[in-house]
Amino acid sequence: KANRLFHPKDTVVDVHGTKIGGGYFSVIAGPCSVESEEQIIGIAKRVKAAGATMLRGGAFKPRTSPYAFQGMKADGIELLVKAKKATGLPIVTEIMNENHLPLFEEVDVIQVGARNMQNFELLKALGKTRKPILLKRGLANTLKELLMSAEYIMAGGNENVILCERGIRTFEPYTRNTLDISAVPALHELTHLPVVVDPSHATGKASFVDSMASAAAACGADGIMIEVHNDPAHALSDGPQSLTPDQFDGVMEKIRRVRAAV
Ligand code: PEP
Ligand code: MN
Repeated sequence: KANRLFHPKDTVVDVHGTKIGGGYFSVIAGPCSVESEEQIIGIAKRVKAAGATMLRGGAFKPRTSPYAFQGMKADGIELLVKAKKATGLPIVTEIMNENHLPLFEEVDVIQVGARNMQNFELLKALGKTRKPILLKRGLANTLKELLMSAEYIMAGGNENVILCERGIRTFEPYTRNTLDISAVPALHELTHLPVVVDPSHATGKASFVDSMASAAAACGADGIMIEVHNDPAHALSDGPQSLTPDQFDGVMEKIRRVRAAV
């Protein structure tokens, strides 16, 4: 179902009027983790003013250490819904367990994180919903494996899948991951599904986000996902890769120029 050979036309995923794919470009922005009402609504207003089309924020966080902040969980989703009401931005948040699905009723796009890309039971459960799914590439997964995971969701009848390249693990530790930028044209060749790039997790460094976001826009990605925090130095997760709202304004400005030029 994901194969371009059998479906030559680009899929446009429609998130309550916000379109992505087939020429529609979308910018998903927000903090790694929802931390408080003031934080998420403040960031939502700033990213919307800058031109973001969707708000992201983690409520259930897949942290490497069990002692690290695990997210605000159901309360975090409630705050995202408040931010949606305050700004009109559709909300994107990660699911880690299908038992949590009832909490995602008002979530517009359900994210499957890199660590769950091959959690096939979770993918099958999401295939039974009709919500758009943002499927992130696993830390060490091939593009074919990513597409097979999309297939798990689509096989259940949910064809609203957005793919996300978020960097892969290589021998190079200078960046958090290595952004596989050629995944964008490769996926566009292999599949009709929209492809977004996450330069925040790919690089792990706020100072590299601007150039990698531009690279994504230049190579034909259908969107980008960027972490933005009001106070990156004190963020409860992923501070070093998070942009301030002012820095995000600058990235949006540059993205507009790159998109106009290509
Ligand atoms: C995230 O988007 O905050 C996240 C945990 O990303 P990934 O699954 O790509 O590491
Ligand atoms: Mn993060």
